[in-house]
Amino acid sequence: MIYRIRVRWSRWLAIIAATVLFSLAVNNFGHLSLKAADVTEEAGAVLAENSLVAQDISAVWEKGSFPVENFQSYTSGFGYRISPVTGKRQFHNGLDLAAPRGSYIRNWWGGKVSDLSDNTACGTSITIQSGSWQHVYCHMEGHVDDSRNGKFLLDREGGIQIALGQEVPAGARIGRIGMSGRTTGPHLHWVLKHNGGYIDPASVLREMFKGQAVSSAS
Ligand SMILES: [Zn+2]
Repeated sequence: MIYRIRVRWSRWLAIIAATVLFSLAVNNFGHLSLKAADVTEEAGAVLAENSLVAQDISAVWEKGSFPVENFQSYTSGFGYRISPVTGKRQFHNGLDLAAPRGSYIRNWWGGKVSDLSDNTACGTSITIQSGSWQHVYCHMEGHVDDSRNGKFLLDREGGIQIALGQEVPAGARIGRIGMSGRTTGPHLHWVLKHNGGYIDPASVLREMFKGQAVSSAS
């Protein structure tokens, strides 16, 4: 009796041991194959991430707004030129976009108003900070009001009142085309800076339109 039970127990133990070993082996094998799958999944994820980044760039540019309503023409490009005002060679740090006086200017990219000014050649102007990008809009209508409540850009006729430090979404009306500062005609002098360095705004506009062409085709 006792012997039989022992035999049975040892059999059971053998069966249990074999099952445990077998399941361990299966688990290990499974684990190894999972690891291999993980590696290929990771590689795939990296590839997917890269293509997502590529897609993101065009998608991101689509979020930008063309900065002028009733746009007529580009009257002066970015780079060195003979100044129409002084007649001397100078660096033109922005892009000039002509539009009828009083046309609205739209915020190119969502950001925070980091500067308001009306006492330089740039005229009544607003500077918006969007991450590492800075965009400046010159020669606008209105003036800067520095009251006890803070600094404001005021263009009552245009219904514009923007506070320094205010968050402004892309496409929002932030001012109107005017003649303030040093200018020979109504236009927006638009300046773009990335990490403090000047960027040709036309190159950014080209990227934006490339993105729009892709989205309308798909
Ligand atoms: Zn200009």
